[in-house]
Amino acid sequence: MNDQRKMEVPVRGMDCAECASHVRKAISGVDGVDDADVLLGAEKAVIRFSVETLDVSHIRKAVADAGYEVPHENEGAGDTDNSAQSRGAKLTRQALSLFGVVFGAVLFIVVVGEWLGLFDAVTRHIPWYIALAVLLAGGYPIFRNVITAALRGRVLAHTLMTVGAVAAMVAGEWVTAAIVVFFMRLGDYAEQFTAEKARGALHNLESMAPRQARVERDGEEEVVDLDALTLEDTVVVRPGERIPVDGTVIAGHATIDQSAITGESMPVDVGTGASVYAATIPQLGSLRIRTERIGSDTTFGKVIRMVEEAEANQSDVQRVADKFSGYYLPVVAAIAAATFIFSGDALATVAVLVVACSCAFALATPIAVLASVGAAAGHGLLIKGGKYLETLDRADVLLVDKTGTLTIGSPRVREVVPTEDSDEREVLNLAASAERYSEHPIAEGLRTAAAEQDLSLERPEEFESVPGVGIRAVVNGKNIEVGKSGPDLRGPQRVEELKADGATIIVVTKDGTPIGFIAVSDQVREEVPQALSAVRDLGIDSVELLTGDAEDTAARLSATLGVRHRAELLPEDKIRIVQEYQEKGHIVVMVGDGVNDAPALAQADVGMAMGAAGTDVAVEAADVALLRDDWMLVPDAFSVAKRTLRVVRGNIGFTAAYNLAGLSLAAFGILPPILAAAAQSLPDLGILANSSRLLRQKSY
Ligand code: ADP
Ligand code: MG
Repeated sequence: MNDQRKMEVPVRGMDCAECASHVRKAISGVDGVDDADVLLGAEKAVIRFSVETLDVSHIRKAVADAGYEVPHENEGAGDTDNSAQSRGAKLTRQALSLFGVVFGAVLFIVVVGEWLGLFDAVTRHIPWYIALAVLLAGGYPIFRNVITAALRGRVLAHTLMTVGAVAAMVAGEWVTAAIVVFFMRLGDYAEQFTAEKARGALHNLESMAPRQARVERDGEEEVVDLDALTLEDTVVVRPGERIPVDGTVIAGHATIDQSAITGESMPVDVGTGASVYAATIPQLGSLRIRTERIGSDTTFGKVIRMVEEAEANQSDVQRVADKFSGYYLPVVAAIAAATFIFSGDALATVAVLVVACSCAFALATPIAVLASVGAAAGHGLLIKGGKYLETLDRADVLLVDKTGTLTIGSPRVREVVPTEDSDEREVLNLAASAERYSEHPIAEGLRTAAAEQDLSLERPEEFESVPGVGIRAVVNGKNIEVGKSGPDLRGPQRVEELKADGATIIVVTKDGTPIGFIAVSDQVREEVPQALSAVRDLGIDSVELLTGDAEDTAARLSATLGVRHRAELLPEDKIRIVQEYQEKGHIVVMVGDGVNDAPALAQADVGMAMGAAGTDVAVEAADVALLRDDWMLVPDAFSVAKRTLRVVRGNIGFTAAYNLAGLSLAAFGILPPILAAAAQSLPDLGILANSSRLLRQKSY
């Protein structure tokens, strides 16, 4: 683990989840590779290795041997003779394959027509060489894969079907063999189509990625490709154009549609000094922007990467399905053998071989996960892996942080209560000066209040922050502490009144002596009560508020919200509480604002970060990130998970029942091979239809 590197390569030709696991095995077998995640949705492999350098050509060869392709980087750049040649070969292959598919369809219609008594035994007059031509033309890509795999000692779903087709030929059933192959191809197309559909949401996101930027160089505006952009460039964006980078506005004013990142279509106003994000679109007004992050470093780039990688974070359901697929093929082979031995019916055996062999089991989970994760990301709910959907589905405890999470996170100063030998302005001035370098929301509130009173702040000579407690600083040679007031420190009567009214009380000390109290209060986000009741309706019985704030403040808030609470906690106490729940067998989801809650978010089974667009900590640290400041996304996360898992279970149950029925009918000779072949391609479409419901989520 010590010195692991990562490399990404594109992989082409993966049509089903089974393929992804072949590619993964092929790449993992290359010398020097530790392991690899193969992303069907993003069509690429993420390879981890610990050697100095890894030769891409070795990877390319391993992938090619497995029957897939790692395209060359300059592919498509220049048209060499070589590539023209390979294009010709490709066209020939496509023409052949079209011939196979079209004539396969004709054959199928003839056979079904004959069955219905429309024709009189036409089938017998179809010459064997036509059937053979259809078989070879249509089946070429399949046979090639099956043979390559067989040479490596691997069995594919298609292997059994190919054996079935060969058996049909040996039995003299040329037409049957040709039709079986035709349906295998149809099944392939169905799978490709299904995978492509599920990638749809991801492609939608990717299509929003900016590709070019208008920059100012030497006083001139020019349009450059994103690759040619540097951090020195000032970017100009006109209304309606996508902002190409993350950066700060240096001139101009606009309303921005940030829906690409937050899914929120209400535009926000920005002006000089505001942070703006790549892929968002300013309306009414153009902007000059100082470039701060480009390409995959931008918030949008990270969102794309995380959605892509979500697929690699496989769920347990998927792992069970993979294992099951491993046993499934041998079982089908055994049933086929038994059918032949006991009934001697070659056609029934062929039917068994072809009916149950589809990728449907392997597709059941990833298709649903891809659809859900992609659709959710489009609405500002970033779920970083299939396994988190599964955990969310089983979760029963929700722990929530208070400041910045339940509250909007911009506390306002309500009142400053100085002690006898001090005054309001001094207390606020010293406190705000000492807080100059603090990121805490309370610090920001103090600075705002100071600015409103036109206080000129000092620069602290030293500064130290104690998470969950407060800060310590040296201002003008005085030791200033600003933070939580201990329970033993009782302020004047007025302080107790403010506390009883729900304010958070901050005490300011100078050289160890309290000089005053500052009452701040933060607004609870207005949708919180509704969101919490939705969470409870979804079966999360236990909701608890965890805060570093004082007991009284917490008690008041938790009473209004109807939840339990624990107050005066340090960051490490929050971890301990998460662990306590886990030890009792609960599955814990924790919502925090990602900064001082990071350790507890990591400890929780699912960490959810509240964060508006761009808060790096929020996007990086948690398993689920809310890219929009909207608490309703919390119940949405649970309900997306529940719906996804329901669909996954439905997919698996449906495929199992379907295949079981097909196998039984085939084994008893009731289902003829031709219908068996037709039946085989249906479960994929069923899975697609079922999973695509997830692309159209109602809430968010
Ligand atoms: P929560 O757990 O509700 O998110 P924190 O852990 O961030 O709250 O902080 C707990 C308490 O510590 C705050 O209510 C406040 O009293 C005090 N505190 C923390 N940081 C600061 C700071 N920078 N300035 C003043 N008070 C602070
Ligand atoms: Mg907080």
